[in-house]
Amino acid sequence: MSGIVHLVGAGPGDPGLLTVRAVELIGKADVILYDRLIPPTALDHAREDAELIYVGKQGDGPQFPQEETERLLLEHARAGRRVVRLKGGDPFVFGRGGEEALACREAGIPFEVVPGVTAGVAASAYAGIPVTHRDLASGVAFVTGHEDPRKPESALDWPALAAFPGTLVFYMGVRALPRIAERLVAGGRPATEPVAVVERGTMPGQRTVLGTLADIAERAQGIRAPAITLVGPVAALREQLAWLEQRPLYGRTVAVTRARAQASALAARLRALGAEVVEAPAIRIRSLEVAKPDLSRYDLVCVTSPNGAERLLDLLRDARELAGITVAAIGPGTARALRARGVEPDVVPSRAVAEGLVDALREVRVGRALIARASEGRDVLPDALRERGAEVELLGLYETVAEPLDGATAEAAAAADYVTFTSASTVRFFLAAAGALDGPRIASIGPATSAALREAGFEPGLEADPHTPDGLVAALVADAAARARA
Ligand code: SAH
Repeated sequence: MSGIVHLVGAGPGDPGLLTVRAVELIGKADVILYDRLIPPTALDHAREDAELIYVGKQGDGPQFPQEETERLLLEHARAGRRVVRLKGGDPFVFGRGGEEALACREAGIPFEVVPGVTAGVAASAYAGIPVTHRDLASGVAFVTGHEDPRKPESALDWPALAAFPGTLVFYMGVRALPRIAERLVAGGRPATEPVAVVERGTMPGQRTVLGTLADIAERAQGIRAPAITLVGPVAALREQLAWLEQRPLYGRTVAVTRARAQASALAARLRALGAEVVEAPAIRIRSLEVAKPDLSRYDLVCVTSPNGAERLLDLLRDARELAGITVAAIGPGTARALRARGVEPDVVPSRAVAEGLVDALREVRVGRALIARASEGRDVLPDALRERGAEVELLGLYETVAEPLDGATAEAAAAADYVTFTSASTVRFFLAAAGALDGPRIASIGPATSAALREAGFEPGLEADPHTPDGLVAALVADAAARARA
């Protein structure tokens, strides 16, 4: 059986700009031939047993020969495999996708094309520049700025380009920028025409330089590939439309130390606010073998974390086993996790800490309580309930263990503006793995985490209130704003 080749665009770099179809095909592929300029997380969607082959090219640097890429494509497809050829941006826009499709056609291999968000449009949009505009540009041209330097004659018709009635977007033109500007002016574009150069569009560290044809070469000297150059009156709209840089955490790097499984939601929220996120998980949650509890013996069940909620419900036949029992949850995330499994918690304290739950239960008569939680944990809640005469049993559902932190990640975390801690265990395990924590400002989710920090000799720069991931994000935003004003 013959395989198939999918020529797939991976978008310009922001993982959020991968298409749904691209993610789906990456997840099904037997073999993925990928380029350098794909989003860093794109391959996370691949099957564990997929073969991943790097076939990237880097400007004038090391080149993986195109013929070799095409040979591999055909070879794997002939062997009956499902092949994804994953390219930055769009596969048919300066991506040599056309050549690869032709090679498939010639070889009789079926292929499909999945368009991607191309850099010329995406980097412009992230820089606050619409490539067309009703009054300013009625067309847009994608142009290569990289010409074969061995060719004596330029392949580009510069007078025609200069006369083009619309926006010009140059790909691969960083080194040729002075020549591009010169030739456009020579061809009749006004030297005052606005120009924007966008480096690393949609990626962390995106940088934009605005100028005119007269001065852009000078201004953009520090710019490195990948970058697009956009020529036309629309470029000046950036002065009013720049939005990326306005986001509250723009330009800040935030390290997230919580377990990988729980980090993604927090990381996504931080990224949406403009932060660059370093995922540096210090802990991992390991489920423990636990016998099914006989809930009929209790009148109160306390759940202290989203993890505990999920693990507890996993043990039960279904939510009805909690009928008639008061269910208390610490934190809105825990309450959400219960609701997702069909359990509406009766008590959710406004303060998301054990002390908050102790207060909230003041009026509740408790005979026998079960506390579903991590195997190790603070004694505040059981002690307080026992003091009130309740019988308390602890159900340790999972334990928190160290996640090894590699050197590069530890370094990136140490260089961040903020390091966030969402539990005492993230503090202990992160410090054990990373050693010190001198540069970044330390963000703590609440008093128990702050206490662990102080015990280790570190003073949190900020503490969230409410003591939830949302509260932590809000505290970071407030702190960043205060420091920007200072
Ligand atoms: N097929 C790709 C283009 C590949 S050519 C697409 O559709 O986007 C490589 C060139 O694309 C780079 O030299 C640069 O000019 C541009 N490019 C790719 N990613 C970019 C990014 N994130 N920001 C700015 N330019 C980018």
